[in-house]
Amino acid sequence: MEGTAIRLQGLRKSFGQTAAVAGVDLEIRDGEFFSMLGPSGSGKTTVLRLIAGFETPSGGSVELAGRDVTRLAPFERDVHTVFQDYALFPHMTVEQNVAYGLKVRRVPKAERLVRARRALAEVRLEGYGRRRPSELSGGQRQRVALARALVGRPRVLLLDEPLGALDLKLREQMQIELKAIQREVGITFVFVTHDQEEALTMSDRIAVFHQGRIEQVGAPAEIYERPETEFVASFVGTSNLLRAESAQRILGSPGTYSVRPEKIRVLKESALADEPDVATATGTVAEVVYLGDATRFLVDLDAGGRLTALQQNLETSAEDVAAYRGTRVRLTWHRRHAVRVPD
Ligand code: ATP
Repeated sequence: MEGTAIRLQGLRKSFGQTAAVAGVDLEIRDGEFFSMLGPSGSGKTTVLRLIAGFETPSGGSVELAGRDVTRLAPFERDVHTVFQDYALFPHMTVEQNVAYGLKVRRVPKAERLVRARRALAEVRLEGYGRRRPSELSGGQRQRVALARALVGRPRVLLLDEPLGALDLKLREQMQIELKAIQREVGITFVFVTHDQEEALTMSDRIAVFHQGRIEQVGAPAEIYERPETEFVASFVGTSNLLRAESAQRILGSPGTYSVRPEKIRVLKESALADEPDVATATGTVAEVVYLGDATRFLVDLDAGGRLTALQQNLETSAEDVAAYRGTRVRLTWHRRHAVRVPD
């Protein structure tokens, strides 16, 4: 990861009265798997389209590898976009689909074939070259779209919710493969998703979007463990906030704090927990959900508010779990796991 692949400065885009992108500054490094994460309408697709050149900004600039491309057409930029609907040509074979971009660029036939086969091997689709898209599964079509993007060796690959159409199992499998492929080919990937788990699984870094702006940029663990805003705390992972008065009673400080559910231990109310760096709160179990590998407890705190705690089912069975409802418990967590977020 030597240089800067993409630099956005003061980027803005309005559609009529809607400020889809309301001032974005961002640097994406060479060779990085970078995700833009946010809810529907937060502006991430528009940023992707501004990088690709499908939209012209209302303000600010786009640089690719140190070159200002703000006013350049899409084909003059060294990027390739993979869309969710794949956009494969149905009448062409897989190999022809993959080689198409090279044909347009007048690469000789023999070379096209070699490169198309290499790209198909990179997405683990050797031997599928002569099929048509209709003879492939959804996941395989997705890989063809990826091979078609890789074959031209762009500097940057833009992916707009590319796994959105796949079922959950396939999606999870493709997440791991996509990450492995990216690592092998070393191309910068910019990945748009509204799925926080997907972003956490695959990315080197994530930008969290909210209302046309970026709220936080960081590695998955930073975003998850150290959310800098209430929005990030609630959008990434389970929202679990201690507010003013209950925070004052439990932590001795009246701010708003985020505590991740898996950091909270559920103990008997009588359990002793008087270590100085451990916070403790008593309450009543309002709801308990058996999840197979873990159990989720929703606890109404005596100090006010409700927290969710997630416990691994080491020795717990489904029957034990049901018996917890309505019982008194003590929640404990390490103080450093209560992260202050601005009110
Ligand atoms: P999604 O995950 O639903 O695609 P997003 O975060 O990618 O959402 P954008 O598609 O960038 O969000 O849209 C941001 C805002 O800009 C939305 O309010 C959307 O309605 C608006 N918008 C996007 N494109 C256009 C357009 N071509 N014309 C008018 N408004 C648009």
